[in-house]
Amino acid sequence: MLDIKIERTTAPKEKPNEDKLGFGQIFTDHMYIMDYNEGQGWHDPRIVPYAPISLAPSAMVFHYAQEMFEGLKAYHADDGRVLLFRPDRNAQRAGNSCKRLCIPPVPEEDFIEAIKALVGVDRDWIPTRPGTSLYIRPFIIATDEHLGVHPSLSYKFIIILSPSGAYYASGLDPVKIWIEDDYVRAVRGGIGEAKAGGNYAASLKAQEKSDAEGYAQVLWLDGVERKYIEEVGSMNIFFKIAGKVVTPRLNGSILPGVTRASCLDLCRHWGLEVEERRVSVDELVSAARDGSLEECFGSGTAAVISPVGTLRFGDEVMEISGGAIGPLSQRLYDTVTGIQTGKLPDEFGWTVEVK
Ligand SMILES: *Cc1c(COP(=O)(O)O)cnc(C)c1O
Repeated sequence: MLDIKIERTTAPKEKPNEDKLGFGQIFTDHMYIMDYNEGQGWHDPRIVPYAPISLAPSAMVFHYAQEMFEGLKAYHADDGRVLLFRPDRNAQRAGNSCKRLCIPPVPEEDFIEAIKALVGVDRDWIPTRPGTSLYIRPFIIATDEHLGVHPSLSYKFIIILSPSGAYYASGLDPVKIWIEDDYVRAVRGGIGEAKAGGNYAASLKAQEKSDAEGYAQVLWLDGVERKYIEEVGSMNIFFKIAGKVVTPRLNGSILPGVTRASCLDLCRHWGLEVEERRVSVDELVSAARDGSLEECFGSGTAAVISPVGTLRFGDEVMEISGGAIGPLSQRLYDTVTGIQTGKLPDEFGWTVEVK
């Protein structure tokens, strides 16, 4: 058990209009902070008013990007309960990201306790309109004042909260995706399977390119042969090819999504044939040509399921499901969001209540 000191704000902010919530622009009244020093370990857990923090310009995170983050949501159930979705998975993944980046991990039970405590303090900030939620962003930064290249000996673990709007205004909107064959996001042996800011810095250039071409997101190919499908922006990718559910297997450079794992669990539970394997872009192009590419969708915490209507690879433009939403995409979306918001029974024990 953490001994969390709570300092409440004396100047609560006005809550935003729930109809106009976007993503990640508004922050709640409080944040969680805990410090790490060698010798002391993680210590001084506290919830304080949301405010800028002070760091030395020489703090290592600014120079060598020793940083990791997580992302999950708290949902307002119709019966008034506040639910988290599989936070144990985020805690576990945070531990793996920390190990890869030489950051001392926060014990999994402390990670979850800290989230619950902060969400509890700011529970009035959880929006209630359908599709809305409270986005939770835990992160750790290296704070040693040092320009030498080595792991920092001091860190801060911080959690901030942001009320977020319904991802879909009306029904699931299929997106257009750009398959990138020049820039790569990650390579095996790199930090692709860690949730680290550095991966996103590496991704911006290709995103600029796909924006300019009128595409919503980038689909990455493997960093070595640029031949096998990896993932999309901040989502994992699924295909339905000739009746089978297919997703790239976790190979060390793909981020292991909690939504991905949940979709796989559900598809298997429903008795669908599921394959986690290598998927080449050539296979996709021929499946699109012969009509066996039935569906394509991204999976991630933000959108849950994001149907893909168009895939573009070089000169090849692949239209999927006639640009509409496939039945599997819709079923997964309805089931995952139903469980997250307590509308459907939680058969798998995925939700955790914040009291
Ligand atoms: C967070 C993330 C995902 C999706 O993971 P979820 O746990 O499902 O939200 C996929 N890819 C990348 C690169 C990510 O950062």
